[in-house]
Amino acid sequence: MKFSITPSTENSSPNILYKPFQLDLALSTVALEITVFTVGDIWCSYILYDGNGNIRAEYIGPSTPQPVIITENTQFSPNTIAGNFGSAPWCLEVCGIMKENTPLEKIKIEIEVTEKNNAQLKHLKESLPTENPWYSIKKGVFELTDENPQNKKEETKWYRGDFHTHTIYSDGKMSREENLIQAEKMGLDFFTATDHNIVPTSWPHSTEVLVIPGVEITSPHGHYNQIGVRNSPFQDKGFLLLQTTEKLAKSFEKKETQQHLNSINHPFLGEWKWLAGETNLHLVDAIEIWNDPTYHLNPDATEKALLAWDQALSDGHKITGIGGSDSHLRPDDRYPEAEFPSLIGDPSTYVFSEKLDIPNILSRVKAGNVWVSRFDCKIDFAVEGQIAGSRLPYQKHVTAFANVTGIDTCRIEWIINGEIMATEESSESQQSFEFVNNSYNYIRVTIRDLEGKLIGFTNPVYFGEKQPSLTYWKELAETL
Ligand SMILES: [Zn+2]
Repeated sequence: MKFSITPSTENSSPNILYKPFQLDLALSTVALEITVFTVGDIWCSYILYDGNGNIRAEYIGPSTPQPVIITENTQFSPNTIAGNFGSAPWCLEVCGIMKENTPLEKIKIEIEVTEKNNAQLKHLKESLPTENPWYSIKKGVFELTDENPQNKKEETKWYRGDFHTHTIYSDGKMSREENLIQAEKMGLDFFTATDHNIVPTSWPHSTEVLVIPGVEITSPHGHYNQIGVRNSPFQDKGFLLLQTTEKLAKSFEKKETQQHLNSINHPFLGEWKWLAGETNLHLVDAIEIWNDPTYHLNPDATEKALLAWDQALSDGHKITGIGGSDSHLRPDDRYPEAEFPSLIGDPSTYVFSEKLDIPNILSRVKAGNVWVSRFDCKIDFAVEGQIAGSRLPYQKHVTAFANVTGIDTCRIEWIINGEIMATEESSESQQSFEFVNNSYNYIRVTIRDLEGKLIGFTNPVYFGEKQPSLTYWKELAETL
């Protein structure tokens, strides 16, 4: 079977091509082989639903190995789910995201689906490696009970991780195995797998690094991560959730069973900035304040994100600031004119937890027990003896302490309610403050080198509470 889409045949919005196709499979079919061909500057994704409406394969170009193979019993291709074929028609939902200003006459997607019977499957089995997943999606739901069986770290400490990574299964250059190896080299305890618009259904084993399933929801209106996600975000509405800013904002709502975190990625970064102004800030668990520091547009975008974050915090929101390397490149590769290679774990996000598992890491991120840094720099930060994320009752006078290790010289900026209240050119700083507001205040630190370049930042310690007055992202963006 061959399916094709061009902008002239189907078009649901200026930047998105979209069309679902029905697949009537032969009764003898026990495997499918799917190959995508594209012409022009377009990213093609598809989701394959079986006759029961369950997701059986997810795909996004341009570098994902093809063809994608789905069978009854064994997982051959990553991001697929083995299982029965049944007799009801299947559905192939296809979505192409175009770059703006691409000449439409140059765009075309073609998808070839080949059915295999038992004899042909036998031949396939001999020619393909099989997957050995440590977790798997079933009926679109992750079963996380058997996560990382060999990797049980049960110490109470700061765990080092990265909340934004890519592989060859979207547009990254590293395989999943290579990401694990590099993460281990960087001393990471965990990372979130956030390929564009696909939730991994499996991951290779690691005894050292916890891999948290995730997805970078990638739309023409901006990108956000679902961290610790157990369902495909597209299971109910399909790719139509990417269509408008309203639908994208609505996808932040969670069902009661969903415990993943929503984190807006690189909110002020060039053409990937966050445009879904309808996003309800109360549904935003985290903001990726610091995206890949080696990318030339990020130093400015990060400063803007810090300002916006301080506005939200000052308004009474508790949104956790995190980092993400957004690593796409190989360790020996770097962006043009970059000082450093773009590595997984740069920046690193540190999370205080009793143990290294997904529920604990997620709940600690939600609680804001988090700081972010580069270059193995560690930030010991406490206010009234409490770590980042803590909330204490209002009090007038507080004492605060910050100690930075892993870097020779630095500047510690003390931020209270969005304002720099003290600066010290030292790796250690002890301060006493008197709050001006009499109900709600917060304190955090930003660490810079002596030229002002960002080295790290902590989440705040909060005193008292405040009912936020800003509800939507657009209101926050207008404050800048
Ligand atoms: Zn990304």
